[in-house]
Amino acid sequence: VPLATELLAQITEVVGSEHVLEGDDLTAGFSVDWTGRYRGHTPAVVRPGDIDEVAAVLALCAEHGTPVVPQGGNTGLVGGGVPLGGEVVLSLRRLTSLAPVDTAARAVTAGAGVTIGELQRHAAAAGLEYAVDLASRDSATVGGTVATNAGGLRVVRFGATRAQLLGIEAVLSDGRVLRHLGGLTKDNTGYDLAGLLCGSEGTLAVVTAARLRLVAPRPQRTTALVAFASIGDAIDAAGAWAGAVEGVEAIEFMVSDGVGLVADRLGLARLVAAPAHLLVEAAGSADPTDALAAVVASTPGVLDVAVGRSAGQRERLWRYREGHTEAINQLGPPHKLDVTLPHDRLADFIDAVPSAVEALRPGASVWLFGHAGDGNVHVNVTGVAPDDPVVDDVVLHLVADLGGSISAEHGIGTAKRPWLGLNRSPEELSAFAAIKGALDQAGILNPNVLLP
Ligand SMILES: Cc1cc2nc3c(=O)[nH]c(=O)nc-3n(C[C@H](O)[C@H](O)[C@H](O)COP(=O)(O)OP(=O)(O)OC[C@H]3O[C@@H](n4cnc5c(N)ncnc54)[C@H](O)[C@@H]3O)c2cc1C
Repeated sequence: VPLATELLAQITEVVGSEHVLEGDDLTAGFSVDWTGRYRGHTPAVVRPGDIDEVAAVLALCAEHGTPVVPQGGNTGLVGGGVPLGGEVVLSLRRLTSLAPVDTAARAVTAGAGVTIGELQRHAAAAGLEYAVDLASRDSATVGGTVATNAGGLRVVRFGATRAQLLGIEAVLSDGRVLRHLGGLTKDNTGYDLAGLLCGSEGTLAVVTAARLRLVAPRPQRTTALVAFASIGDAIDAAGAWAGAVEGVEAIEFMVSDGVGLVADRLGLARLVAAPAHLLVEAAGSADPTDALAAVVASTPGVLDVAVGRSAGQRERLWRYREGHTEAINQLGPPHKLDVTLPHDRLADFIDAVPSAVEALRPGASVWLFGHAGDGNVHVNVTGVAPDDPVVDDVVLHLVADLGGSISAEHGIGTAKRPWLGLNRSPEELSAFAAIKGALDQAGILNPNVLLP
């Protein structure tokens, strides 16, 4: 549906004609998600350059009752940032302001469109680090990672995005601005709006900036890629190492099919044949290698260990883990089911998923990997039509039956909206609806996302 001529003219006046993109040639990249599973269509992509322009565009859309999808780097994996119902796309990528790092407070204020990679380099130039890290770092934005409460590779040590958030600036759907960027460590002045907007997936407000905690660098760092005799041994080790390895920052899980696929697709050397691998990384001011080696040596089921200490060696080991998302996507649009299990049910779940899926869809392939230190498994299923809900249904019910969460870190988006009731009670969902009504008073933000 084309936009009302009057609305289009008003928006163009606010952001300038070069920042209103129309027509499939220009908008296609904003209308399909990273996986290719979710494809929509938009009458216009609007690219405001500052918070005043964001506020003015939202106020205009609210006045016309025109729905809006906020979008950052478009690396989301649950179809939450694309215009599936013909919404206007509000791209925040031009909000790239980065304040100087406050080294005394160990914090920085970053615009919503700053990528995580840029933020990490900015922090490093001031001798600090931003703790959230993920393979999509060069495209995923501050606004998108706040909106999804992104987790990533170091949650086991530093927590997800919400744990880094000291303050927020956001625009409500009617154009009013919420700004609380003071960043005080102790600040008990009522409702935690930053915490509420974090993980709200663009349904409550548009994030324009965030005040983020930074951490001290840990200059000594060791990575080990460890092969196991069985999946159960690897899962047991992940649970034990989370508490036993000093300075542990990542415990990542892979199975044989996945490491074989990554090696083939990305042209890497084949690893030692083993049912499962864990990639573990520890860091600190002292060299963690000996302590890590001692823990690994006393772990049952270890078949082989490769150790990386220099940046280049560590990066080569990480390629096997970080390459999974890219290699699986090369097989066609996957169903991505990012879930968490209680640690003592993780091995049962990993054992049960492939046969549960293949019983219903015999041609399907199941790929399992994830952040084992957090009980987080990424179940990826290829060889199934994008709009076929059967696989999602069986896997998400299995998760709920085992006491897990249907979304560990990617969010609910469009992909898991029908199943939110597996984890959230009717009372909780009615509180969600009340919050949505109170903040998105115009009712135009991300209508296809999160709320059933
Ligand atoms: C290779 C790869 C690896 C990944 N690894 C991880 C991982 O380890 N951990 C993890 O958690 N995720 C991971 N992801 C998923 C993705 O990178 C994260 O969900 C990320 O937070 C999305 O950021 P984005 O800027 O791309 O947001 P988008 O994809 O543009 O949007 C995501 C959601 O946030 C909303 N949104 C975006 N910007 C704003 C804003 N400024 N205000 C309000 N709402 C907004 C959108 O409407 C949408 O609902 C990975 C993705 C890829 C492709």
